[in-house]
Amino acid sequence: MTVFCAKFKTSLLCLIPFIFILFSSCNIIEKDKERLFKKSTVLMDTIVSITVVSSSRDKAEKAIDEAFRELKRLEEIMNFYSEESEVSKINRNAGIRPVKVSMDMIDIIEKAIYVSRLTEGAFDITTGPLTRVWDFHSKTVPQPTELRKILSLINYRDIIVDKKNSTIFLRKKGMLIDLGGIAKGYGADRAMEVLKKNGINSCLVAIAGDIRVSGKKPDGSPWMIGIRNPRPQKGSDDIFTSLPLTDAAISTSGDYERFFIKDGKRYHHIINPFTGYPSESTGGVSVITEEGYLSDGLATAVFILGPERGMELLKRLGYKGIFITGDLKLYE
Ligand code: ADP
Ligand code: MG
Repeated sequence: MTVFCAKFKTSLLCLIPFIFILFSSCNIIEKDKERLFKKSTVLMDTIVSITVVSSSRDKAEKAIDEAFRELKRLEEIMNFYSEESEVSKINRNAGIRPVKVSMDMIDIIEKAIYVSRLTEGAFDITTGPLTRVWDFHSKTVPQPTELRKILSLINYRDIIVDKKNSTIFLRKKGMLIDLGGIAKGYGADRAMEVLKKNGINSCLVAIAGDIRVSGKKPDGSPWMIGIRNPRPQKGSDDIFTSLPLTDAAISTSGDYERFFIKDGKRYHHIINPFTGYPSESTGGVSVITEEGYLSDGLATAVFILGPERGMELLKRLGYKGIFITGDLKLYE
């Protein structure tokens, strides 16, 4: 018996190195296995969530934190409501002098002007004076005379970009630029750039309704993006439909984000630059392109143009979209 036990012990002892090798190789496999890491924070006045595929928690967290820092930096430059921001400096000097700005500001303004051209002015960052007078806290409708005066200040062609000297000049006194219709999509692009520089190839950046995805999930399936029901019933699902996406940007604009109802009429934050009033469209539209700034700007414009003209424009440009009206009619 003792002999048997001794033999058994010896054979067990012999096995230990094998067991150890087996376990440590499992560990390596486990360590190398790609997993999802997700972090959320509040930036740009909304919730920002970043999900990355990585085999290392440290690498994932470092990349995400760096992307958050980049968004914070951009937010400080572009904040319409902060006196210190570059955009406020440009606005204060409207009609007075060109203002020296960062390359980031030149870049986003050039992109905004490009979207204005594509949409024949439906998207226009010079709607700033309208952002000021449409106050969604006090829930008052501005006077028509006040709106009429403001309309003469709205024209993206009056933004003078001097790339060589890195300056922006707004031609008329009283002009104001507001990047609210494009900043989140642009931010998603820039955050993704940071993730890629950190060696992350599969990821999802969601800045509220402005989302950019790259690659696939660890199991090889695409990212699934939910499209919100613009008029969810109490107790029912908020998600109208879900779309599989890889390497794309999707943005949603709608009349349910910021609005008030007065005398039975819904006044929301997407303003028609030609009338000064919130666009007549109802519901929401999601636009899919390859870059966040473009999806964001186009979604705002398509919502203003309405389901028919808006979807026609998207088709002409070769992009996909889904327009869900307030009475839940679907245009694709
Ligand atoms: P959200 O900000 O809810 O994601 P949008 O991307 O459609 O929605 O942006 C709406 C914001 O864009 C408004 O709050 C305002 O700051 C700005 N904006 C409103 N109308 C226009 C417009 N016609 N062109 C460009 N920006 C606009
Ligand atoms: Mg937008």
